[in-house]
Amino acid sequence: MQSGTSVAGRYRLDERLAAGGMGEVWKGTDTRLGRTVAIKILHAGLSNSDKFRARFQLEARAVAALQSPGIVALYDYGEEEGDDGLISYLVMELVRGRSLAEILRDRGPLPPAEVMQIVAAAADALETAHRHDIIHRDIKPANLLVDEETGAAKIVDFGISAARGASGLTETGTVMGTLAYASPEQLNGAELTGASDLYSLGIVAYEALMGRPPFVSDTPVAVMNGHMTQAPPPLSRDIPPGVAQVVLQALQKDPRARYGSAADMARSAREGRVVTGALPAAGSTPPDGQQTQYFGSDQTALLGGAMAAGAGGDTAAQPTSQLGQTEEKNRATMWFIIAGIVAALALIGGLIWWINTNNDDPSGNITDNTSSPAETVTTESESPTEDETTTEDDDDTWDRTTDEETSETPSEEPTTEEPTTEEPTTEEPTSEDPTSEDPTTEEPTSEAATG
Ligand code: ADP
Ligand code: MG
Repeated sequence: MQSGTSVAGRYRLDERLAAGGMGEVWKGTDTRLGRTVAIKILHAGLSNSDKFRARFQLEARAVAALQSPGIVALYDYGEEEGDDGLISYLVMELVRGRSLAEILRDRGPLPPAEVMQIVAAAADALETAHRHDIIHRDIKPANLLVDEETGAAKIVDFGISAARGASGLTETGTVMGTLAYASPEQLNGAELTGASDLYSLGIVAYEALMGRPPFVSDTPVAVMNGHMTQAPPPLSRDIPPGVAQVVLQALQKDPRARYGSAADMARSAREGRVVTGALPAAGSTPPDGQQTQYFGSDQTALLGGAMAAGAGGDTAAQPTSQLGQTEEKNRATMWFIIAGIVAALALIGGLIWWINTNNDDPSGNITDNTSSPAETVTTESESPTEDETTTEDDDDTWDRTTDEETSETPSEEPTTEEPTTEEPTTEEPTSEDPTSEDPTTEEPTSEAATG
């Protein structure tokens, strides 16, 4: 595409903003209405593929269904015959500002308050998407546009979004998403809930605070292992506890131990900006009202439950990251040792949980791919490099070209779930048997509050 090209006799391409695996994004002009717009054009070659056109159309529908100040507004979608074949295009609101990926490249780690403002805006937007049973599945800095003057942030790129309850895997066993930001359940092929997006947003927050995502490695397998079994490296000591708490809670391995909804996370992010003071020991009862100020009693219970359930590696790491004063170094060392022991126990518990979870066979459409977590990891370890696309950012979205995904169709029944925040959460995930007559009620229910 060239500058000056007219699309559909109406939209003039003025300046190319980005080129990615799926196509290009242009700043342009809607000549009929005389306003500036953003135009995303699917590569001509891809437009000729039914599969990619369908996915692009799905993106249009997903975005059109969502109205939120934090989600880019969609104006138009269409197809036209171009010189090189069919062109599919999306016309959107032109968002002021830059992608968070660019900002981080340019400015490095951001101040905690700024990070929490971005997280809150993104979580608000995700709340809207989740209420519509849409899971974004590719939350990462390149897909968050931030206006640095106002602090407003918007989510773009619903290109691989899926109906809630879809698997993290495609029919061919490929993970959809971006490895550095993928949730454990995306990687192991479990059914996804909105909690998966919250995990990815937690990774984004961690990266924005620390300058790099928690799990980075030369090998995809090591990154996956980090997501699935390791606690994130401790956050720096000067990050306020309320802020660290938001990140660590979003990064819980067990989706049920994360926030009950995106709205909860947004609230905590707003409150986390202003809360200071030391955190109590992980899993303990809040000593006073301060803790409930930035995560409610339900969340506290969930956090404790996560530890008991063997997903508390992250939690165990908190104290080391929270103790702000230098005279507490010794105590921090002690915590390191305790954290090590707890993490080892957590790993064992996690393994048991894993085996049980994977025996559950949660959905018919992924059984071929999920016979064992190890198998999934092995299968996937090759995909990212093979399928890498050439987006402007390093963290390419996987599988823009090879999947035959069947689980993305919005027609999939969204499961209606009972809120489990009322349930005691200190039990093992496998102890949910009382509800096992209806497998849908067993799903991670961190979504429950999103209705
Ligand atoms: P891709 O599918 O190639 O990842 P995205 O929708 O993520 O495409 O857009 C790629 C980049 O284009 C974004 O990172 C952002 O920099 C820019 N971009 C996308 N949509 C808009 C928009 N509405 N306004 C301004 N910039 C946008
Ligand atoms: Mg993108």
